[in-house]
Amino acid sequence: MSAQANREEMSAQENRVMALSEWEDRWQAGKTGFHRSEVHNLLESNLDKVVCGRNEVRFFFPLCGKAIDMKWLADMGHTVVGVEISEKGIKQFFAEQNLAFNEEPVPAIPGAKVFKSTDGTISIYQCDLYKFSSTVGGKFGGIWDRGALVAINPCDRQKYATLLMSLMNNDCRYLVDTLEYNPELYKGPPFFVSEEDVKNVFGGGCDIELLESVDAFEKKHKSWGLDSLTEKMYLLTPKAQ
Ligand code: SAH
Repeated sequence: MSAQANREEMSAQENRVMALSEWEDRWQAGKTGFHRSEVHNLLESNLDKVVCGRNEVRFFFPLCGKAIDMKWLADMGHTVVGVEISEKGIKQFFAEQNLAFNEEPVPAIPGAKVFKSTDGTISIYQCDLYKFSSTVGGKFGGIWDRGALVAINPCDRQKYATLLMSLMNNDCRYLVDTLEYNPELYKGPPFFVSEEDVKNVFGGGCDIELLESVDAFEKKHKSWGLDSLTEKMYLLTPKAQ
């Protein structure tokens, strides 16, 4: 796509803003069509790329929802930290995965809570992602970003990328899933994110490799008014210092 075309497509969505309360409304109304009942195919196919032979990787899941991939990685011996604004979503995760949990306040973030599985493998912070930091949750060896970069408001992308890069250990491997479609036809979320967008916000701190590009068009996308949709998986690694 030309830079010109990309600018025009971006402009169709760049001012779209979803308030946190709108996400909560979706959880309350059960409108969670983004949730998948199976492990994500692109996490499975790229697992080796993100784990890279390491044991007990500390994974970060921004905007985690109730993704079952958290349990899947924990069952392999990794640990997972997620951030999600909806308490309802977090409680559904623990209930659906049959995991006992404890709930604690987070002194560093007024109003926030952390929900921890009693086996200690999964912690989910209930707060606005932008309040989270490495001071609160440490740094990570792996990041799974599905329904996160594409879900945040387009105007917040640089802020988001700067935060995510601040959470990466030197050996961190970060998988980011993006969607490409005609943004004139659907207002999002999920938003259209091009390769150029990924490079613009992460290129300063990370090397970026396109791992997979798949036709992910399904029946539901037709009802969004789309006629095609491509899912792209990138691997981000910190630039050598
Ligand atoms: N990654 C999950 C959920 C994707 S939907 C999955 O793949 O299934 C995006 C999620 O992010 C929603 O559950 C929404 O409640 C949450 N969310 C949106 N903005 C947020 C923010 N600023 N801070 C924390 N959570 C947020």
